[in-house]
Amino acid sequence: MPWFLSRDVANDLEAIPIRVRKPADSTTLPEDFRYINKMIIGKNFIKLEDYIGCNCRPKCVANSCPCIQLNGSLPYKLGRLSGHKDIAFECSKRCSCEPNCVLRSSQNQLKYSLELYHTVDKGWAVRTLSTIPIGESLCEYLGLLRRIEDLDDGATETNFYLYDIDCLQQLKERGTTSNAIPGLESVKMDQCVTHRHPDITKAMQQARVILFAKRKIESLEELTLFYGYPIDSLKDEEGKVIKKDCYCGTPSCRKRLI
Ligand SMILES: [Zn+2]
Ligand SMILES: [Zn+2]
Ligand SMILES: [Zn+2]
Repeated sequence: MPWFLSRDVANDLEAIPIRVRKPADSTTLPEDFRYINKMIIGKNFIKLEDYIGCNCRPKCVANSCPCIQLNGSLPYKLGRLSGHKDIAFECSKRCSCEPNCVLRSSQNQLKYSLELYHTVDKGWAVRTLSTIPIGESLCEYLGLLRRIEDLDDGATETNFYLYDIDCLQQLKERGTTSNAIPGLESVKMDQCVTHRHPDITKAMQQARVILFAKRKIESLEELTLFYGYPIDSLKDEEGKVIKKDCYCGTPSCRKRLI
C-alpha cells in the first residue's frame, strides 16, 4: 500500500518536493486544493513595483547599502533573523546585489523538507522532516491579495485566515515605530517614513508576510503560527462574539484561535 497521496504536492514549483502522507482513513486533499508559490493578485488590486534599489555589488555592506540602512542594522545574521522584528526591509529586483545577498534571506527557495499530513483535530497540517534552526525563514504566507473593500460580505466572519498586510497601519495602532525605522522612535511614523523615501510608505502598506522559525523546530514537529487575533475581536452579524478553539498543543497556548 503506498504511503503517500502525492510525492510532490508542489508539482516541481519548489527546489525540493513536498510530500503528502496518506491518512489512515480514506480522507483525501480537498478537491479545490492548489499549491501556489506566488501571490494571486485580485482584481482592482494594483501591485506596486519595488520601491527602492541599491547599487551594491557583489554584496550589500552595512555602512554603504541604503537597503540595510532602512533597517537601522542588519536584520539577518548568517541568513537567519537575528531577534524579533516587526518589519525587515530586503533588497529587491531593483538592487544590483547578487541573489545570495544577506538582505534577500527570505527570498530563497524552500530549504527544508516538509510533509502534509492529516490530524484528528485540525484537518490537514504541515510538519518538517528535518530540524529547523531558530530564525530561519520557512516560506511566504501566500494567497489571494485583495483590497479590504473588495472582500465578500461576511468574509471576515467566515474566513479566519485573513492577513492584513498594511504594516504601517498596524505599527501605528500598536504605537510603535522602533522596529520600523530604528533610531527614529521619537518622530511620528508618517514623518520619518516620508523623510526617508516617499515610496516606503506605500511599500509598507503592501508588505509580504514571511514565516520565520521563532525557536528551533525539531524533525517531525508540526509547523504552527499565531495569527494574532485579539480575543473577542470578531463578531458575527448579530454582534455575537465568534469563538474558535486552538488545537496547537503548545503549553502556553491561550486555547482560542479567535
Ligand atoms: Zn545594497
Ligand atoms: Zn542586497
Ligand atoms: Zn538593495
